[in-house]
Amino acid sequence: MTTASLRIDLDAVLANWRALDAMTSAATETGAVVKADSYGLGAARVAQVLARAGARKFFVAAAEEGAAVRQALGEGPEIFVFSGHMADDTGLIRDLGLTPMLNSLDQVQRHFDALPGAAFGVQLDTGMNRLGLEPADWAGVSAELIAAGPKLVMSHLACSDEPDHPMNALQLKNFRAMTDGLGLKRALSATGGILLGPDYHFDVTRPGIGLYGGLPFETARPVVRLSLPVVQIRTVAPGETVGYANSWTAARESRIATVAAGYADGLSRRFSGKATLWAGDTPCPLVGRVSMDLITVDVTDLPEVPQSLEILGPHQGVDALAEVAGTIGYEILTSLGQRYQRAYVGGPV
Ligand SMILES: *Cc1c(COP(=O)(O)O)cnc(C)c1O
Repeated sequence: MTTASLRIDLDAVLANWRALDAMTSAATETGAVVKADSYGLGAARVAQVLARAGARKFFVAAAEEGAAVRQALGEGPEIFVFSGHMADDTGLIRDLGLTPMLNSLDQVQRHFDALPGAAFGVQLDTGMNRLGLEPADWAGVSAELIAAGPKLVMSHLACSDEPDHPMNALQLKNFRAMTDGLGLKRALSATGGILLGPDYHFDVTRPGIGLYGGLPFETARPVVRLSLPVVQIRTVAPGETVGYANSWTAARESRIATVAAGYADGLSRRFSGKATLWAGDTPCPLVGRVSMDLITVDVTDLPEVPQSLEILGPHQGVDALAEVAGTIGYEILTSLGQRYQRAYVGGPV
């Protein structure tokens, strides 16, 4: 069975990075978040493209994720680890030259005991209550940490996709209260924060989803196209049913295409009976249940059924598809399965 093809436009990733970079002043450095294998699109390729364009700061969630990025980039660019210095991370941090963002007093202790003199950053909690030192912890250790020269001090906004949310201003105020006047390199904003304007930019930004074409970066260039091969086409008589649980019944004589991708490939079962696929400019409804490896699509109105149908592309981006399942573009991207052949378009040759 031919597997589906996921086309990833590296030129679009690059254009998105440059567009986000252009929204901040020249004094603000634009980093790149490549956690979760660059939101499922391939951390090595993405990191290489952005490094060639001048990105020097990369962010991953866990130390293990730093390995592929370091291998792709070689020495030089900084790779920051959001989860900090966990108990088993010391070897990876040392060998790969990673920079853990220390999140707690335990992590501070561990890092200074295990790797004295090694690079580190600090993550501060300004109200999200997820990661980072609380203001009281920070007050207790800031002198010691500042003396040791953190590479970066950061916090993360909880509501930056809602520009009018009062939490944004509150976290900004808290971040400034914890860091103003200390001469530290600071980062507060992911994609959403960049869009909030210069007060939120500080020295370094950390865009992720915007690079990959997702909201809240509305003018992002789309990055992914996903075409799914048609395995079989059959005619179904009125009254006949399709798929598990007989959940769709033909109201007219229908042609049904069986298409090779299912929930094991990241197509949510919540798409069942709701999502739309595209044959060129013509929409074709997904009918019946999404199964593990297959979906069924009503192609009755197509004069000719193509070899593949598109579920992500110019007619339906990651956020439009996300809406069908009541989720967000981030989840659509990071769910894209390992069975897809990832084909890269553009980027360095
Ligand atoms: C994931 C993440 C980012 C990137 O966020 P986007 O909304 O994808 O731009 C930035 N900073 C932290 C701490 C993150 O966890």
